[in-house]
Amino acid sequence: METAIRPTWLEVDLAALVHNHQVARQAAGPDCAVYPVVKADAYGLGAVEVALALAADGAQGFCVALVEEARELREAGIRQPVLLMGGFGPGQETDVADLDLIPLLFRSEDVERLARHRRRDATPQPVFLKVDTGMGRLGCSSEKGLGLVRALDAAGGFELRGVATHLACADEPHRPETRWQQERFAAFLSHPQWRGRSLVRSMANSAGLLAHPETRMQLARPGIMLYGVSPFHPGEHPSAQALRPVVTWRTRVVQIRHMAPGSSVGYGGAFRVARPSRIGILPVGYADGYSRRLGGRGAVLVAGGRAPVVGRVSMDLTAVDLTAFPQVGSGDEVILLGGKGPDALPVEQLADWMDTIPYEVLCGIGKRVPRLYLPSPA
Ligand SMILES: *Cc1c(COP(=O)(O)O)cnc(C)c1O
Repeated sequence: METAIRPTWLEVDLAALVHNHQVARQAAGPDCAVYPVVKADAYGLGAVEVALALAADGAQGFCVALVEEARELREAGIRQPVLLMGGFGPGQETDVADLDLIPLLFRSEDVERLARHRRRDATPQPVFLKVDTGMGRLGCSSEKGLGLVRALDAAGGFELRGVATHLACADEPHRPETRWQQERFAAFLSHPQWRGRSLVRSMANSAGLLAHPETRMQLARPGIMLYGVSPFHPGEHPSAQALRPVVTWRTRVVQIRHMAPGSSVGYGGAFRVARPSRIGILPVGYADGYSRRLGGRGAVLVAGGRAPVVGRVSMDLTAVDLTAFPQVGSGDEVILLGGKGPDALPVEQLADWMDTIPYEVLCGIGKRVPRLYLPSPA
């Protein structure tokens, strides 16, 4: 017998995901591979289900941040190449080969550690070099990069497949930094040391892929666009309009409270009722990733419109004012995120209320919120 789930769940529309993958493939064109980024449990949506759906749609490879994330994909039967973007921790050197990963290397220590743990009979370990062209985060400088390539050659047993860099400002299409990064990348790759090597160059995230055609190169690494969210900020870019929303976060009213003027709702009595009110209690809270910042700021979607979140969001419960929606009763469904129509709540809207970006909203949806996949696998 199937166990019933709690009445708060996240719906993930796999058909919309696949549609967005096709948008990415089309933007990339025939000469650029698309490796969907499924780090952080596919931005909270569920890495295994997302990767299996994309693999079935012909995904050419995947990108993850951690060895642990790669292992999850391998255990689920994903056979495609996996780029390990975030490096590997001490003791994880043998996992890189055992899980058949392609690590991005950015320091000489990476080369030494991998070389030290290599098996004698192993096939060459494929690697990418990760160079910093202006992101100012993970990566090596151009000078160090050339040294790393010499170290790889000297160590033997490595196959340098490509060079990757990451864009810092592509989500703001008018900024000049994206072009400066391309120029630095091109200058780095024009060094005589590269002569005679055929390398895969990789630069584009979602924003690069959609808005900066020159950054597509041979391998793009889109994440957020696959999950139905525009990467652009602030404002919009027409290229994002083809994306379909993927997630809907739903819950059900567990109780209706009739409150008299002067009574208060929740911790600290932060909301005081001014008129006779119908307050709906929802079984979701900040432990589920429904942020405390939404208290007094956010709203949920009910039949008929947006009902404001009142008082403080607590760990497991949230109150909404349903006075204007007498038709909504106990047991009725409420949308926390997503939905259709003029009152819909896109991820961007919640991010705005939470003073953050859509990425953090999605990644923050708690593990105890069950994920429901549509269409469900046959
Ligand atoms: C997360 C990440 C991406 C994907 O970025 P999106 O903005 O979600 O498309 C690509 N490359 C690297 C190195 C990343 O860390």
